[in-house]
Amino acid sequence: MKWRWRERMRAAGKDTSRPNIVFGANAQVALEKTARYFDMEARLVPVSDSSRYVLDVERAVSMIDENTVGVFVIMGSTYTGHFEDVGALAAALDRVQAEHGWDVPMHIDGASGAFVAPFAFPNLAWDFRVARVASISTSGHKFGLAYPGIGWVVWRSAEYQPQELTFELQYLGGVEKTFTLNFSHPACFLLAQYYQFIRFGRSGYTRVMNACLYHARLLSVALEATGAYECVSDIHRERGQFGFSEETRVAAARLLTSSVLAERSLADASVNDAYNAGLPEVGFRFSDWFIRQHPTASQDAVSTLLRVRGWIVPNYPLPPNRSDVRIMRVVIRETSSEDTVNRLVRDIMWATRAMLDSQAASLGEALLNPLPPNSTSSSNLAHEVAASMDETPRNDAQRHSHWRGLLAKIGESIEVTKEEAAGDNKVHQRSC
Ligand SMILES: *Cc1c(COP(=O)(O)O)cnc(C)c1O
Repeated sequence: MKWRWRERMRAAGKDTSRPNIVFGANAQVALEKTARYFDMEARLVPVSDSSRYVLDVERAVSMIDENTVGVFVIMGSTYTGHFEDVGALAAALDRVQAEHGWDVPMHIDGASGAFVAPFAFPNLAWDFRVARVASISTSGHKFGLAYPGIGWVVWRSAEYQPQELTFELQYLGGVEKTFTLNFSHPACFLLAQYYQFIRFGRSGYTRVMNACLYHARLLSVALEATGAYECVSDIHRERGQFGFSEETRVAAARLLTSSVLAERSLADASVNDAYNAGLPEVGFRFSDWFIRQHPTASQDAVSTLLRVRGWIVPNYPLPPNRSDVRIMRVVIRETSSEDTVNRLVRDIMWATRAMLDSQAASLGEALLNPLPPNSTSSSNLAHEVAASMDETPRNDAQRHSHWRGLLAKIGESIEVTKEEAAGDNKVHQRSC
């Protein structure tokens, strides 16, 4: 992108000394490195609640000028798993071109999402179907299911690869073209990737991505059902619904229950049509209700306690301008199962309670802010969820009916919540 921009500027007799590249503040460090190494000014677009903590299209467009080499679009924010809106940005860049004449291309940073979207969301146009997309990169070692050490980049066509960077060499009796940054390196990663492609095929990758998304949704719904947590990620919500509220929580639980009961095949990507697109990732934080009950509660402590049980669930700030909010994050992998989700929810609830107990002990808060009793009434859903998590079923059939039961229970309690809320207009207090 930089070479093509420079060529255009030279041809117009303009200064080429100050290229810039625009991308969201939610970018992974690789993007900042690219800007630094290639001597481009990195113009970071602050995120906001309304942009769901990813690229804010209007703000991005306002940071573009004639020195803008391109825009990096992140397909799968590392923070929350949200996909950035490729279509909306392309439309906005068309407006910029009509107004100023600047033809700004897009590079898709599809590190995770470029291996998820084609299988799980085949109707989502984020790729070369969008004319402004010049190139796409992805990591073989994430949802490509290979080992670290392999990544891919694909260009729309040969004209997007500048001649000056394509080297031709006579080698082993033939002519080879090379367009790489790294030099000799082993082929084992390539073989691993090739094996996975052949082993799984399109339908296999579809099953894997759908299973990951299903488990991520299950985790999201269970966490929100506890009352202690709300999700910042939105993949479990009905398409078009974003952000946590009592209504979106209830709707998400219903949607999951109905799609589980519908028993569609995991090889059928249309199971995802009802939901927001995104990575199988769950970003979550204490709910506002929980913070009101326990103003000194610490997510850091929960994160640390989870390490005791063998889970690495980081707790970190959202990107600027929302770095005041800290979220915990779980990435669901192909090796995760309902059982993994089961144990994780149980351990998160254990860690949450342990954190509250230790705070009460050390801060002498027990009297000021008594912990809710260990009840198993339907108003004490978290305990119920946590308790039922202990009864881990042994085989697949049992596990299936177990989760159905649990989801139904969540559904019942939602009914109770709604009735109570309608009855006396009081916030229903679920306890952790
Ligand atoms: C992981 C990641 C990268 C870096 O990719 P590597 O293949 O690990 O170098 C870049 N961008 C995003 C959004 C990522 O998640």
